[in-house]
Amino acid sequence: MSVYVFGHKVPDSDSIVGAISIAYLKNQVEDEEYIPARQGEISAETEFILNKFGGKLPELKTTVAGERVYLVDDSDSHLFQDDIKEATILGITDHHKLGDLTTNAPLEMWVRPIGCSNTVVYEMYQSYGVEIPKDIAGMMMMAILSDTVIFKSPTCTKVDTRVVKELSKIAEVEDYKALAMEMFIVKSAVDGSSARELNTRDYKEFDMNGSMVAVNQLEMIDISALDARKEEILEDMRAMKEEKNLHTVLTLLTDIMKEGSQLLCVSDAPQKIEAAFDAKLENNQVWLDKVLSRKKQVIPFVQPQF
Ligand code: MG
Ligand code: MG
Ligand code: MG
Repeated sequence: MSVYVFGHKVPDSDSIVGAISIAYLKNQVEDEEYIPARQGEISAETEFILNKFGGKLPELKTTVAGERVYLVDDSDSHLFQDDIKEATILGITDHHKLGDLTTNAPLEMWVRPIGCSNTVVYEMYQSYGVEIPKDIAGMMMMAILSDTVIFKSPTCTKVDTRVVKELSKIAEVEDYKALAMEMFIVKSAVDGSSARELNTRDYKEFDMNGSMVAVNQLEMIDISALDARKEEILEDMRAMKEEKNLHTVLTLLTDIMKEGSQLLCVSDAPQKIEAAFDAKLENNQVWLDKVLSRKKQVIPFVQPQF
């Protein structure tokens, strides 16, 4: 019986590339067949990476009850399709806080507090003594550059920067920072996207002590491109909050050049969000200087308020 490898259901480049890189590795060292998969549609950024290095789009797999699976880039049930708890989890490779998923049988776990799951995958290849093919090396390098915001994110470690350098040699990409900027320009495109598309582009829900908190993040070269659309985006956040019965909806407009995020907030208790960041919301928003990382600079501060 095959094993499906996939990441969170609103897939980013780390979870798509991780599915590809882990499946390839496992197929070199194990007898069962590992199949790269995804639980949702890919982003323009991920499409850019796949096209650049000739990567194949992993198959869409939205039901996994009764299947054997290997997870990458998260371990929280809310971030996967609803039947994830009915699948058998053989392993997890991740760089987030530990989620609520558990198993009945022993599993392998490769989890480290570093910049990207694909940095952990690199260490898996080293540990198994498997060579990384050129195309996969290129994709892994781009996933790390995306997750670490070209090394600017506080989640980035020396391990990530070293691994990008190693991968760039295998991929034969000299100016990887220039290629990463090209990728972020693709990622920054907002023209033609509806407010709902923007509000769900990098969307995650968190169960905070019984209250559902959604946090979406748009990483852009210049967030002023959205200045005229803030009200429209907030209006859609209000609609989304009602539809999905959420306690709070946050959208982070992250400016990777100014190195900070405009936080938009629609909440039953905005004072919790103000307390989390020790800041005052005006017109449902506030600028958070130096805040680039949802996992390291947002969730750990919002969670204790619940
Ligand atoms: Mg991710
Ligand atoms: Mg990641
Ligand atoms: Mg990210």
